[in-house]
Amino acid sequence: MNTRSASRRRKYTNIGRTNSYNLRSRTPSLTNSLLHRDDEVIILKDHEGSSSISGVDKLLTEYTRPVSSPPEELCSICMVSLQQASGLCEVEEETEENTTGNTSKSQDSCDDGGAVQLVHCNHIFHFACVKQMVETFPKYLRCPYCKNIHGVREGNQPPGKMKTSRIRRSLPGHSDCGTIIIEYSFQNGTQGPEHPNPGEMYTAFGFPRIAFLPDSYKGNKVLKFLQEAWRRRLIFTVGTSMTTGLHNVITWNDIHHKTNCLSNVSGHGYPDEFYLDSVLMELENAGVTDVTT
Ligand SMILES: [Zn+2]
Ligand SMILES: [Zn+2]
Repeated sequence: MNTRSASRRRKYTNIGRTNSYNLRSRTPSLTNSLLHRDDEVIILKDHEGSSSISGVDKLLTEYTRPVSSPPEELCSICMVSLQQASGLCEVEEETEENTTGNTSKSQDSCDDGGAVQLVHCNHIFHFACVKQMVETFPKYLRCPYCKNIHGVREGNQPPGKMKTSRIRRSLPGHSDCGTIIIEYSFQNGTQGPEHPNPGEMYTAFGFPRIAFLPDSYKGNKVLKFLQEAWRRRLIFTVGTSMTTGLHNVITWNDIHHKTNCLSNVSGHGYPDEFYLDSVLMELENAGVTDVTT
C-alpha cells in the first residue's frame, strides 16, 4: 500500500467506517495509440453497513452544540417551540398513555435534551429531534432546514469499478485540450439492507457506461470530485430506472454525466458551457465539497 492509500484509509478509519475499499491501482497504459496517459482504476468492494450507536453518538457530539437560551422559534423537525419540549416527547407520551394508561414513566424516559445548534449552519432544533433523525440514518447529519451536510455522506452504490483514461482528441467546445474518458462497470448482485428491496437481485443494465470530461484544469477538478463521489458510493444507486422503467436496476443518482462525445443534440454531450459548473453544484449538493488528493 502506498502512502497516499494509507493516509486515505486512516482518514476514513477515523470517521468510523468499517468497510474495506479503495484498492486504488494503476494499470499500464493501454496499447491504443490514442491514449497518452496511464489509466486510473478505483475498485470498490462490497462493504458492511456502518450503522451503529457509536456512529450516532459521534455525529451528535461532533456536529451539535447545546443552546442555553433557545430563540422563540419553532423546531422545523417537530414544529413545536424550541422553548418547549420536543414534539416527539408528546407523541411518546400519548402512545404510552393509550397502551398502558400510565404517562409518568414515559415522561421520565423522554430524554428531550433541550435545544442544540448544528455547528456548520447554526440552525437550531430540539436535541431529541436531531437524535431521532440521526438514529434513522447514522452515517451523516443533514440539516433538515438548509440541507447542509455534517459528516461524510455515503450512498448505497453497489461494488463496481471506475476507470479513467485520456485521449488527445478534443470534445466539441473544448478544442484546447484532450478528453478524459470515465468508464463505470458493475456486475449483477444481491441488494443489501441499504437498498430498497434487501435480498432481491439488482441488475447492472447497460454497463459499462462511458462518460466524458474535457482534460482541462476544470475538467480534472470535476474528475477528482467524481472520484471522491465514487468512493462515497454516490454516483449510482439501486432503484427504478427513469429511462427504462425497470425495477431493481443500478441507476444514475442525480450527478449528471456527459455520455456523448460527438454532439449535444441529446443534451448529454458537448458543447455545453454550463456543464462543468452545474455538475460541481450537483456534487456539492451531494456533500462532496473538498477532496484530499
Ligand atoms: Zn423538535
Ligand atoms: Zn441548516
